[in-house]
Amino acid sequence: MALERTFSIIKPDATRRNLTGKVISMLEEGGLRVVAQKRVKLDQAKAEGFYAVHKERPFFNDLCAFMTSGPVIVQVLEGENAVARNREIMGATNPADADEGTIRKTLAESIEANSVHGSDSLENAAIEIAFFFNNDEIVG
Ligand code: ADP
Ligand code: MG
Repeated sequence: MALERTFSIIKPDATRRNLTGKVISMLEEGGLRVVAQKRVKLDQAKAEGFYAVHKERPFFNDLCAFMTSGPVIVQVLEGENAVARNREIMGATNPADADEGTIRKTLAESIEANSVHGSDSLENAAIEIAFFFNNDEIVG
């Protein structure tokens, strides 16, 4: 087991429905600790930069429009195997495929408006954390 940090976003569909606290509770109950957090509104450039890896995908423009449609909560989560653990707590990308009890099964509206983002690897977690946070904003 390794203590890791991962990057998380509570997406606009969740902030719009006032589910911020519910999502945080599910993360904490899953064994993760919020060690940095802020509420921000992404602009087009920031959303496109964050999702640059998906720029050739057919859903890219819709995804950036969705992610700029309202406030988001960006977070750094810490815990044992935090990257994989967070993906388990989140559930599958499409809420229809997500396991019972996961955030996406419980809360998500659609494959796009799926309530949360979580890094998919330790390497990407470090890149994504640095995209939004300075080191002095992360307090473990
Ligand atoms: P995940 O967020 O589970 O890592 P991806 O990295 O594949 O999933 O996709 C990034 C985000 O793009 C998803 O969380 C979702 O918001 C959106 N997305 C993925 N696939 C689709 C799709 N087929 N149609 C619309 N939006 C999608
Ligand atoms: Mg992903």
